[in-house]
Amino acid sequence: MKKLILAAFSIFLATSLHAQKQVPEATELYVDLEKITPGEGTNAPSDAIVLFDGSDLEKWQSAQRGVGAGSMLDLKTIIPSLSAEGKGSPAPWKVDDNELVVEPGTGFIETRQGFADVQLHIEWLAPAAEGKSGQLYSNSGVFFMGMYEVQILNSYENPTYNNGQASSVYKQHIPLVNASKPVGEWQEYDIVFMAPKFSDKGTLVSPAKVTVFHNGVLVQNNVELLGPTCYIGTPYYVAHESKLPLALQDHGDPMRFRNIWIREL
Ligand code: MG
Repeated sequence: MKKLILAAFSIFLATSLHAQKQVPEATELYVDLEKITPGEGTNAPSDAIVLFDGSDLEKWQSAQRGVGAGSMLDLKTIIPSLSAEGKGSPAPWKVDDNELVVEPGTGFIETRQGFADVQLHIEWLAPAAEGKSGQLYSNSGVFFMGMYEVQILNSYENPTYNNGQASSVYKQHIPLVNASKPVGEWQEYDIVFMAPKFSDKGTLVSPAKVTVFHNGVLVQNNVELLGPTCYIGTPYYVAHESKLPLALQDHGDPMRFRNIWIREL
Protein backbone atom coordinates (compact mmCIF):
# COMPACT_ATOMS: atom_id res chain seq x y z
CA MET A 1 0.00 0.00 0.00
CA LYS A 2 2.86 2.35 0.97
CA LYS A 3 4.54 1.65 -2.38
CA LEU A 4 1.31 2.35 -4.24
CA ILE A 5 0.88 5.75 -2.53
CA LEU A 6 4.50 6.62 -3.24
CA ALA A 7 4.10 5.66 -6.92
CA ALA A 8 0.91 7.72 -7.23
CA PHE A 9 2.60 10.72 -5.62
CA SER A 10 5.59 10.39 -7.99
CA ILE A 11 3.27 10.37 -11.00
CA PHE A 12 1.40 13.42 -9.63
CA LEU A 13 4.71 15.28 -9.09
CA ALA A 14 6.07 14.38 -12.53
CA THR A 15 2.80 15.41 -14.19
CA SER A 16 2.65 18.77 -12.41
CA LEU A 17 6.33 19.48 -13.21
CA HIS A 18 5.67 18.51 -16.79
CA ALA A 19 2.67 20.82 -16.87
CA GLN A 20 4.84 23.70 -15.59
CA LYS A 21 7.30 23.14 -18.41
CA GLN A 22 4.52 23.52 -20.94
CA VAL A 23 4.48 27.28 -20.30
CA PRO A 24 7.17 28.79 -22.55
CA GLU A 25 7.74 31.78 -20.20
CA ALA A 26 8.84 29.38 -17.43
CA THR A 27 12.14 28.83 -19.26
CA GLU A 28 12.74 32.37 -20.55
CA LEU A 29 15.29 34.40 -18.60
CA TYR A 30 15.86 38.17 -18.48
CA VAL A 31 19.04 39.80 -17.13
CA ASP A 32 20.54 43.26 -17.35
CA LEU A 33 23.18 42.60 -20.06
CA GLU A 34 25.98 45.09 -20.67
CA LYS A 35 25.74 46.61 -24.15
CA ILE A 36 28.94 46.83 -26.19
CA THR A 37 29.70 47.90 -29.75
CA PRO A 38 31.50 45.27 -31.82
CA GLY A 39 34.52 46.44 -33.82
CA GLU A 40 34.54 46.70 -37.61
CA GLY A 41 36.19 43.55 -38.95
CA THR A 42 38.93 42.54 -36.52
CA ASN A 43 39.00 45.89 -34.72
CA ALA A 44 38.53 46.07 -30.96
CA PRO A 45 35.01 45.99 -29.52
CA SER A 46 34.10 48.90 -27.25
CA ASP A 47 34.86 47.03 -24.01
CA ALA A 48 38.36 45.91 -25.04
CA ILE A 49 41.64 47.34 -23.79
CA VAL A 50 43.65 48.28 -26.86
CA LEU A 51 47.23 47.19 -26.18
CA PHE A 52 48.67 48.37 -29.51
CA ASP A 53 46.93 50.40 -32.19
CA GLY A 54 49.98 51.36 -34.24
CA SER A 55 50.87 54.53 -32.38
CA ASP A 56 53.04 53.82 -29.34
CA LEU A 57 54.15 51.31 -26.69
CA GLU A 58 52.64 53.13 -23.72
CA LYS A 59 50.83 49.99 -22.50
CA TRP A 60 54.07 47.96 -22.56
CA GLN A 61 57.31 47.78 -20.62
CA SER A 62 60.50 45.77 -20.63
CA ALA A 63 59.98 42.36 -19.03
CA GLN A 64 63.73 42.18 -18.41
CA ARG A 65 63.81 38.59 -19.59
CA GLY A 66 65.90 37.14 -22.39
CA VAL A 67 65.23 34.06 -24.52
CA GLY A 68 66.90 31.84 -21.92
CA ALA A 69 64.48 32.98 -19.25
CA GLY A 70 61.68 31.64 -21.46
CA SER A 71 62.89 28.13 -20.71
CA MET A 72 61.46 28.34 -17.18
CA LEU A 73 64.03 25.83 -15.97
CA ASP A 74 63.46 26.70 -12.36
CA LEU A 75 59.78 27.54 -12.00
CA LYS A 76 59.98 28.08 -8.25
CA THR A 77 62.67 30.74 -8.75
CA ILE A 78 61.27 32.46 -11.82
CA ILE A 79 57.55 32.62 -11.08
CA PRO A 80 57.75 34.70 -7.88
CA SER A 81 59.88 37.22 -9.83
CA LEU A 82 56.97 37.88 -12.21
CA SER A 83 54.88 40.74 -10.94
CA ALA A 84 51.58 42.33 -11.84
CA GLU A 85 53.23 45.71 -11.32
CA GLY A 86 56.06 45.01 -13.73
CA LYS A 87 59.45 46.66 -13.77
CA GLY A 88 58.44 50.02 -15.20
CA SER A 89 61.17 50.58 -17.79
CA PRO A 90 60.06 51.37 -21.34
CA ALA A 91 59.53 48.56 -23.85
CA PRO A 92 62.72 48.41 -25.95
CA TRP A 93 61.02 47.27 -29.19
CA LYS A 94 60.23 49.74 -31.97
CA VAL A 95 57.21 51.05 -33.79
CA ASP A 96 57.79 51.07 -37.55
CA ASP A 97 55.13 51.89 -40.14
CA ASN A 98 52.46 51.59 -37.40
CA GLU A 99 53.66 48.08 -36.60
CA LEU A 100 55.31 46.75 -33.44
CA VAL A 101 58.66 45.18 -34.31
CA VAL A 102 60.83 42.98 -32.11
CA GLU A 103 64.26 44.53 -31.50
CA PRO A 104 66.26 41.29 -31.35
CA GLY A 105 68.36 40.85 -28.26
CA THR A 106 66.45 43.31 -26.08
CA GLY A 107 64.33 40.67 -24.34
CA PHE A 108 60.62 40.08 -23.79
CA ILE A 109 58.16 42.93 -23.43
CA GLU A 110 55.07 42.75 -21.21
CA THR A 111 51.92 44.75 -20.55
CA ARG A 112 52.05 47.24 -17.69
CA GLN A 113 48.68 45.82 -16.57
CA GLY A 114 48.16 42.35 -15.15
CA PHE A 115 45.42 40.05 -16.48
CA ALA A 116 43.72 36.80 -15.48
CA ASP A 117 40.96 35.34 -17.74
CA VAL A 118 41.03 37.07 -21.13
CA GLN A 119 40.08 37.11 -24.78
CA LEU A 120 43.05 38.27 -26.87
CA HIS A 121 43.27 39.36 -30.50
CA ILE A 122 46.74 39.74 -31.99
CA GLU A 123 48.01 39.96 -35.56
CA TRP A 124 51.57 38.95 -36.45
CA LEU A 125 53.85 38.64 -39.43
CA ALA A 126 56.82 36.32 -39.82
CA PRO A 127 59.35 37.98 -42.13
CA ALA A 128 61.13 35.95 -44.81
CA ALA A 129 64.72 35.08 -43.92
CA GLU A 130 67.48 33.31 -45.83
CA GLY A 131 68.96 30.12 -44.47
CA LYS A 132 66.69 29.82 -41.43
CA SER A 133 64.64 26.75 -40.49
CA GLY A 134 62.73 25.07 -37.68
CA GLN A 135 62.49 26.93 -34.38
CA LEU A 136 64.99 29.54 -35.60
CA TYR A 137 62.79 30.72 -38.50
CA SER A 138 60.71 33.64 -37.20
CA ASN A 139 59.94 32.63 -33.62
CA SER A 140 58.08 34.64 -31.00
CA GLY A 141 55.25 33.77 -28.64
CA VAL A 142 52.35 35.07 -26.62
CA PHE A 143 53.04 34.35 -22.94
CA PHE A 144 49.85 34.60 -20.89
CA MET A 145 50.66 35.66 -17.32
CA GLY A 146 54.27 35.80 -18.49
CA MET A 147 54.60 32.00 -18.46
CA TYR A 148 52.00 30.12 -20.53
CA GLU A 149 53.05 30.27 -24.20
CA VAL A 150 51.00 30.01 -27.38
CA GLN A 151 53.75 29.66 -29.96
CA ILE A 152 54.30 32.12 -32.79
CA LEU A 153 56.48 30.69 -35.55
CA ASN A 154 56.70 30.48 -39.32
CA SER A 155 55.07 27.08 -39.76
CA TYR A 156 54.36 27.34 -43.48
CA GLU A 157 56.49 24.64 -45.11
CA ASN A 158 58.91 24.90 -42.19
CA PRO A 159 58.86 21.58 -40.31
CA THR A 160 59.61 21.38 -36.61
CA TYR A 161 58.28 19.29 -33.72
CA ASN A 162 54.48 19.64 -33.90
CA ASN A 163 54.05 20.61 -30.27
CA GLY A 164 56.36 23.54 -31.02
CA GLN A 165 54.85 24.82 -34.28
CA ALA A 166 52.68 27.91 -34.73
CA SER A 167 49.57 27.89 -32.49
CA SER A 168 50.82 25.01 -30.38
CA VAL A 169 50.67 25.40 -26.63
CA TYR A 170 54.44 25.08 -26.56
CA LYS A 171 55.55 21.51 -25.78
CA GLN A 172 52.08 20.69 -24.41
CA HIS A 173 49.41 20.70 -27.13
CA ILE A 174 49.72 20.17 -30.89
CA PRO A 175 47.28 22.33 -32.91
CA LEU A 176 44.34 20.48 -34.50
CA VAL A 177 45.47 21.59 -37.99
CA ASN A 178 48.20 23.74 -39.51
CA ALA A 179 46.40 26.97 -40.51
CA SER A 180 49.61 28.88 -41.26
CA LYS A 181 50.04 31.45 -44.03
CA PRO A 182 53.34 31.99 -45.86
CA VAL A 183 56.04 34.31 -44.52
CA GLY A 184 55.38 37.96 -45.26
CA GLU A 185 51.59 37.62 -44.80
CA TRP A 186 49.67 38.88 -41.79
CA GLN A 187 48.18 36.18 -39.55
CA GLU A 188 45.69 36.36 -36.71
CA TYR A 189 45.25 34.72 -33.35
CA ASP A 190 42.05 34.93 -31.36
CA ILE A 191 42.67 33.31 -28.01
CA VAL A 192 40.62 32.65 -24.89
CA PHE A 193 42.87 32.06 -21.90
CA MET A 194 41.49 30.98 -18.54
CA ALA A 195 43.98 31.47 -15.73
CA PRO A 196 44.76 28.64 -13.32
CA LYS A 197 43.15 28.96 -9.90
CA PHE A 198 44.95 28.17 -6.65
CA SER A 199 43.70 27.64 -3.12
CA ASP A 200 44.89 29.83 -0.23
CA LYS A 201 47.32 27.04 0.60
CA GLY A 202 48.78 27.21 -2.90
CA THR A 203 47.35 23.96 -4.24
CA LEU A 204 45.97 23.85 -7.77
CA VAL A 205 42.16 24.16 -7.88
CA SER A 206 41.80 24.32 -11.69
CA PRO A 207 44.45 24.34 -14.43
CA ALA A 208 44.91 27.03 -17.07
CA LYS A 209 42.82 26.42 -20.21
CA VAL A 210 43.29 27.75 -23.74
CA THR A 211 41.18 28.01 -26.89
CA VAL A 212 42.92 29.30 -30.02
CA PHE A 213 41.67 30.34 -33.45
CA HIS A 214 44.50 30.71 -35.99
CA ASN A 215 43.43 32.73 -39.03
CA GLY A 216 39.81 32.02 -38.04
CA VAL A 217 40.33 28.26 -37.69
CA LEU A 218 39.88 26.45 -34.37
CA VAL A 219 43.26 24.91 -33.50
CA GLN A 220 43.13 24.53 -29.68
CA ASN A 221 39.78 23.58 -28.18
CA ASN A 222 39.72 24.43 -24.47
CA VAL A 223 42.87 22.41 -23.74
CA GLU A 224 44.20 22.11 -20.20
CA LEU A 225 47.75 23.21 -19.50
CA LEU A 226 50.08 21.03 -17.46
CA GLY A 227 51.82 24.09 -16.01
CA PRO A 228 53.96 26.99 -17.24
CA THR A 229 55.85 26.56 -20.51
CA CYS A 230 59.06 24.58 -20.09
CA TYR A 231 61.73 24.29 -22.80
CA ILE A 232 63.36 21.44 -20.93
CA GLY A 233 61.61 19.00 -18.63
CA THR A 234 58.06 18.41 -17.47
CA PRO A 235 55.93 21.40 -16.50
CA TYR A 236 54.32 21.67 -13.08
CA TYR A 237 52.26 24.35 -11.35
CA VAL A 238 53.61 26.82 -8.84
CA ALA A 239 51.02 29.10 -7.20
CA HIS A 240 51.22 32.70 -8.39
CA GLU A 241 49.36 35.99 -8.35
CA SER A 242 45.85 35.98 -9.79
CA LYS A 243 46.70 38.70 -12.36
CA LEU A 244 50.00 38.94 -14.25
CA PRO A 245 51.19 40.77 -17.38
CA LEU A 246 50.84 39.38 -20.89
CA ALA A 247 54.30 39.03 -22.45
CA LEU A 248 55.61 38.81 -26.01
CA GLN A 249 58.76 36.84 -26.70
CA ASP A 250 61.99 38.09 -28.20
CA HIS A 251 63.47 34.96 -29.79
CA GLY A 252 65.97 36.88 -31.89
CA ASP A 253 63.75 37.44 -34.94
CA PRO A 254 62.33 40.80 -36.18
CA MET A 255 58.70 39.66 -35.90
CA ARG A 256 56.01 42.25 -36.55
CA PHE A 257 52.71 42.77 -34.67
CA ARG A 258 49.64 44.95 -35.13
CA ASN A 259 46.08 45.38 -33.84
CA ILE A 260 46.48 43.91 -30.34
CA TRP A 261 43.50 44.09 -28.02
CA ILE A 262 42.33 42.22 -24.96
CA ARG A 263 39.05 41.78 -23.07
CA GLU A 264 38.95 40.82 -19.42
CA LEU A 265 36.46 38.01 -18.87
MG1 MG B 1 58.28 31.02 -29.09
